[in-house]
Amino acid sequence: MTDSGFSDQTNRGLEASPLARAYRTVLQRLDVAAREAGRHAADIRLLAVSKGQPAAAIEELSRLGQRDFGESYLQEALPKIDRLGDQKLIWHFIGPMQTSKCRDIAAHFDWIHSLDSAAHADRLDRRRPAHLPPLQVCLQVKLSPEPRKSGADPDQLPGLARHVSRLPRLRLRGLMTIPEASPDRTLQRAAYARLKTLFCALQAAGHDLDTLSMGMSADLEAAILEGSTLVRVGQAFFGARSVG
Ligand SMILES: *Cc1c(COP(=O)(O)O)cnc(C)c1O
Repeated sequence: MTDSGFSDQTNRGLEASPLARAYRTVLQRLDVAAREAGRHAADIRLLAVSKGQPAAAIEELSRLGQRDFGESYLQEALPKIDRLGDQKLIWHFIGPMQTSKCRDIAAHFDWIHSLDSAAHADRLDRRRPAHLPPLQVCLQVKLSPEPRKSGADPDQLPGLARHVSRLPRLRLRGLMTIPEASPDRTLQRAAYARLKTLFCALQAAGHDLDTLSMGMSADLEAAILEGSTLVRVGQAFFGARSVG
């Protein structure tokens, strides 16, 4: 029930937007998954993966209340970050790392989820501008031995975490993984359970970590059951991608 034609129109406007509908659906999935896991949805951060999307789509999600956005390709991300600079958004770099990208990532992003080498950590630390808070870091972990894939091997993690935690311009927050895609919920959960075990081992070694970056459009329920604190969602907002 509405008492003015104006708000009636506003409501119809929201109904009509596919992105607004998709946003609501993802929030509902988060809610249901959290409840199933005996957790609070508010404890799970939602990262909208906006790679391949125009700045207008990010603006629309921002109007709906979304704050955290993830980008994989630097050259695509920088103009969007620049254009949306007045919106107080939080930018997460989630793409493959290269030495040549460190300067721009350090200067333009709030978070990086894909750090997997001490050399890149050193460079990001040196490049992080003094007027910004420390760059928030998740170490990317490779759970299966696919040679093409980025990520640190699990046995490298303790040393890499120690190294990063000593760098003043980086703040180690947790771990990230991209598991092999599988439609099998049991396999999805097994991979995420492994990441959680590695995370707990680092905590036991004295690292003050709070972020388990795991779960995407197809498997966020499995990730939340295994303790994810941040899910990275692209296609469930924007529809299927052809690449990337
Ligand atoms: C693209 C991407 C996502 C989002 O995956 P969807 O299947 O679109 O939800 C999440 N994490 C990383 C690292 C990505 O590159």
